[in-house]
Amino acid sequence: MAKEVILLKLGEVVLKGLNRRTFEDALLKSLRRRLKSAGEFTVNSLQSTVYVRPENDDADMDLAEERCARVFGVVSLTRAGEAEKELSAICQRAGEYLQDALEAAQTFKVECKRSDKRFPLKSPELAMEVGASLLEQYPHLTVDVHQPDVTVWVEIREACAYVHADAKPGAGGIPGGTGGRAAVLISGGLDSPVAAWMMAKRGVELVAIHFASPPYTSEQAHDKVVRLLRRVSEYAGRIKLITVELTHLQEQIRDCCREDLGTVILRRFMLKAAQRVAEAEDCKALITGESLGQVASQTLQAIACTDAAATMPVFRPLIGADKVEIVELSRKIGTYDISIEPFEDCCTIFTPKHPRTRPMLKFVEEAEAAIDGEALLQEALEKRTTQWVQP
Ligand code: ATP
Ligand code: MG
Repeated sequence: MAKEVILLKLGEVVLKGLNRRTFEDALLKSLRRRLKSAGEFTVNSLQSTVYVRPENDDADMDLAEERCARVFGVVSLTRAGEAEKELSAICQRAGEYLQDALEAAQTFKVECKRSDKRFPLKSPELAMEVGASLLEQYPHLTVDVHQPDVTVWVEIREACAYVHADAKPGAGGIPGGTGGRAAVLISGGLDSPVAAWMMAKRGVELVAIHFASPPYTSEQAHDKVVRLLRRVSEYAGRIKLITVELTHLQEQIRDCCREDLGTVILRRFMLKAAQRVAEAEDCKALITGESLGQVASQTLQAIACTDAAATMPVFRPLIGADKVEIVELSRKIGTYDISIEPFEDCCTIFTPKHPRTRPMLKFVEEAEAAIDGEALLQEALEKRTTQWVQP
């Protein structure tokens, strides 16, 4: 009985040079891990294509396809029907496998790829033969090579032939874990989950750091962060979440520091705390969801003051993005609905009435000297908690 498989195409650029093996191994590892809960599959690669093959009838192909579409490093994917490498078998399988699509279509064309050059028919001849057979099987169809409703792909590969419709786009990017490890400062907002996703797309393994300030921030606000990270983990793999409580520090800033600089001071302490956690977790960079000019604390001058608090590189993948673009991405990755739930964040409590939009580092440093920042940071970091978030 002919089988169905999922074919995944890998990015050419990624696969060039010495890194090829590392990338491929990382990709296969992510795929295998992500497919576990969809049933038993074998996953292997040959010539820039990964084959995902169900081992038995219990394997959930819909779920497997969904999972594969979220693995970074996959440029496109398609489900395909296997056929013997013999013309009549291919024609019959194409007609059967794409029955629904062909019945619904008015026009079609056939495209062939022959990577096994031993197959006796060249691609154009094979396309003609399969096309003629499909016209016989579906007499209502006509051929349209320019804008067909359905394209029937026939691929002649090493072990067998495959028939499929157009491939769908995959998640793109670079396989997880090939880009080192970085810590993302995650809030419950729209931006930071998207920033996390963008860096994971470039192969970065994520550790997440969340700052809470109970009782000013609630358990639900924390739960929202966990749910957001779960969505991100569908792409990025499981994520370690470290929560640090800044209540005491924030109260001290509110009571002792210049009010108009309160936000920048808090953000500097957040970066300092994040860097210490990141170092302990062997991360080489920090990630935030900041976007230039979005709020008072994200002007160029405010970001410069914040940035001066860290020595680690701070990546801000959304720095040049508009809100509309960020919203669009968050919808695509499935974080939007959660992000818009109305829960407080530690950045939105005790906010100054008139925050300085162009703070100067000298005055910020003077103002923050009013509290024993080091002791407060230590206290907060000692009590940090850790949990794992997985899809
Ligand atoms: P977001 O949508 O990500 O919350 P925002 O536009 O609300 O961003 P801010 O609240 O100023 O902007 O936060 C800027 C960045 O600082 C966030 O993108 C995030 O990386 C980090 N951040 C803010 N609040 C927290 C928090 N409670 N814990 C960890 N990081 C935070
Ligand atoms: Mg926020």
